[in-house]
Amino acid sequence: KGSGKFLVGGNWKCNGTVDSVRKLVADLNGADVPSDIDIVVAPTFLHLGMAKDQLKGPYQLAAQNSWVGKGGAFTGEVSAEMLTDFGIPWVILGHSERRSLIDESNEFVGEKTAYALSQGLKVIACIGETLQQREANQVFEVLDAQLTAIADTIADWENVVIAYEPVWAIGTGKVASPEQAQAVHAHIRQWFEEKVTPEVANSIRIIYGGSVNDSNASNLAGQEDIDGFLLSLDIRSAAALHPSHQDKISSRL
Ligand code: PEP
Repeated sequence: KGSGKFLVGGNWKCNGTVDSVRKLVADLNGADVPSDIDIVVAPTFLHLGMAKDQLKGPYQLAAQNSWVGKGGAFTGEVSAEMLTDFGIPWVILGHSERRSLIDESNEFVGEKTAYALSQGLKVIACIGETLQQREANQVFEVLDAQLTAIADTIADWENVVIAYEPVWAIGTGKVASPEQAQAVHAHIRQWFEEKVTPEVANSIRIIYGGSVNDSNASNLAGQEDIDGFLLSLDIRSAAALHPSHQDKISSRL
């Protein structure tokens, strides 16, 4: 395991209405979250303010994206310094939906990571292979290239969490088996050992994302190199943040 608390991130994606956000926030406020878990909640930019005003307790907020450099004439973007100024501590970068649908390259994600860190944000950097890449036995090659592009731009990994999210498992109900996920997480830790430093390899948190649910969470959490989860907003993330589920997760740590 990396050092630091088990981290559960809830990615709300492009979902939510004033009403549903109010309900979800009330649900989260009513949950009894153990203090040994970091919970990071990522609403849309539009709903971040509402969530910030209404969420109580241990929840930390994340944006789902930030601009690659200083703000200015970049219509539609939100800059890292705006997030810091607004009191948002985290940002999710490199989510596979942005890599594939908006064509974000490894290099662009690397630059965004560097800029976000320079502005004091903590980054959940997502990496993962497609089904086609897995079937072509390119998993490690793909992940190494995604990691290298980040390593090329940053020197300090203290405020970075890596989210391994196999694209074929995101939103599909097809979860990686605990063994499959563990093998990849171990590879990622080894990559840090060889390409960065053993200290970073030992400390960095590597979380898993992709169809995590009530019934598979505890087996995944029990794996040596799995330090948390990233899950999407739907009934499962509310359930995953529920105290009974938390107990299952923490009991396996
Ligand atoms: C995600 O989008 O980051 C994710 C893990 O989604 P899901 O939980 O729906 O697979």
